[in-house]
Amino acid sequence: MSARVCVIGAGLAGAALAWRLACSRCPGTETTLVGDSSEGRQDASRTSGGLVRAFDIDPWHRGNAEAGLAELLADPLLRKWAGYRRAGSTYILDTSRPDQLAALAAARAMAGVRIADAAELAAEGWRGLPEHAFAVFEHEAGYISPHEFRKALTVDFAVRSGSVLLDGPVVGLERTHSGRSWNVRTPDGRSREFDVVVLATGAWTPALLHRQGWRAAGLTTKAIQYTLVQAAGHRPAPFIDETSGLFGRPAQDGVMLLGVPTESWGVDPDRLDTDPDLTDRALHLAAERLPGLTPTARLRTVVAADCYGDRAGLVLEPVAAAGGGVFTFSAGSGGSAKTVLPASAHAAEQILHG
Ligand SMILES: Cc1cc2nc3c(=O)[nH]c(=O)nc-3n(C[C@H](O)[C@H](O)[C@H](O)COP(=O)(O)OP(=O)(O)OC[C@H]3O[C@@H](n4cnc5c(N)ncnc54)[C@H](O)[C@@H]3O)c2cc1C
Repeated sequence: MSARVCVIGAGLAGAALAWRLACSRCPGTETTLVGDSSEGRQDASRTSGGLVRAFDIDPWHRGNAEAGLAELLADPLLRKWAGYRRAGSTYILDTSRPDQLAALAAARAMAGVRIADAAELAAEGWRGLPEHAFAVFEHEAGYISPHEFRKALTVDFAVRSGSVLLDGPVVGLERTHSGRSWNVRTPDGRSREFDVVVLATGAWTPALLHRQGWRAAGLTTKAIQYTLVQAAGHRPAPFIDETSGLFGRPAQDGVMLLGVPTESWGVDPDRLDTDPDLTDRALHLAAERLPGLTPTARLRTVVAADCYGDRAGLVLEPVAAAGGGVFTFSAGSGGSAKTVLPASAHAAEQILHG
């Protein structure tokens, strides 16, 4: 297909999709990536914890996370761009919950994972876990820098032929008179015409759709918060403890990232406040579950929003209300550092081949 494609939003999702389109070298396809360099914008890719592992409870995320980690590990350039660090991963499941019991069964069939019970976790320094806790250990898991990764993907995108990089933000979309394409407006007052428009605008997507008078079907936002603490003692591998909600990972220079999930849905990504109670809860749980870890100082609390989809994660979805030619690629759902590689490959394939 010959097409002028506009990807709006240069977070990890938009950068990866635009890069995939440019790499495809599909004749006649010109891809434009519109970023937004508004000062101080805390997008999800800038703040992300960047954990990458193959296992997840949700089957869609698990399949894509497994494929994403495999692609990353197989490609030294992608590993360098992403700043991948192998750190392992411990995913503690609450098998009293049917979905987590089913996920444990799925994990047993995965390559590169090892299952451990509560007794083995106790030997690794974990305390206070219920008997029905089981862990999925992964040796090759680790973390990346989603911010550095999107920057590298954007630079490589920009040097490929048929690629155009613009600064936004996009302020509106209008159908052209022919009815077959879209005009995309930027604050410099200019409009550019495209056949396909993709909103990779993360947590800003529901509001952008709303401003267009379109329903944000199945999309919402949620805040994610964590606190960086200076920590002495035993710093564990990146973990998620589903029995308490606590998650964490070591960072450089003796720093540990700790958090618990928020219940802040439907938030405005430009108006987020940190919640000190969540930090207290994370530190309290860390003291209970990991007594060998000693936080010595609270350094910084980070909060940002991601876009969540009600069906799956990061997939290309047509915006039905637009009547054709407009898609979202926004539902990172708190996990797209892991899934963005296969998700962007699939979305590019859909755009190029219908
Ligand atoms: C705090 C936090 C921790 C996370 N930790 C992990 C983790 O450990 N592992 C994991 O796999 N995932 C994690 N995630 C999820 C993952 O980082 C996100 O899913 C991913 O970064 C989302 O990328 P995105 O490009 O969709 O959104 P964003 O990175 O938010 O990018 C959207 C971009 O669109 C731009 N934009 C918005 N409106 C416009 C407009 N009108 N015109 C032009 N541009 C516009 C914004 O400025 C922004 O740059 C975390 C997320 C958060 C918030």
